[in-house]
Amino acid sequence: MVKTKEKEMEKKVKLDLKKIQKTLLRMKDDFEKETDSAAELVKEHEDNTFADANDLATHDTDISNEMNVKKLKDSQYEDILEALERIETEEFGVCEECGVDIGAKRLEVYPTTKLCISCQEEFEKAQKAKSMVANSNKTEQ
Ligand SMILES: [Zn+2]
Repeated sequence: MVKTKEKEMEKKVKLDLKKIQKTLLRMKDDFEKETDSAAELVKEHEDNTFADANDLATHDTDISNEMNVKKLKDSQYEDILEALERIETEEFGVCEECGVDIGAKRLEVYPTTKLCISCQEEFEKAQKAKSMVANSNKTEQ
């Protein structure tokens, strides 16, 4: 019965980097398709702005709304690129905050995450506190 080696292999739940990389590449593809059409939309607006300079103000608001969406998408896209880069440099799966292994299960669900569960919880708590402060400022309570 020489099963020790096999058992050792089982013990270490190996991160399926190939699979995650594939998922990330698919996400990246989807984003590229989407941003292509978004970029065309913005370009159309730019053409309009040039064509009718008097109408600049209204176009500006339209564009800035689109830019906000684009910004959000860009940051998600960057996350995907960064995750792919971390796979290349073999830094993938380590929490950016505390340096522990994020865990294969979590990474399969959130392949772009840079934080372990506990750091993520801390981060979300901080975000929540921030938005609560922002809300209470708004309503002046
Ligand atoms: Zn952490």
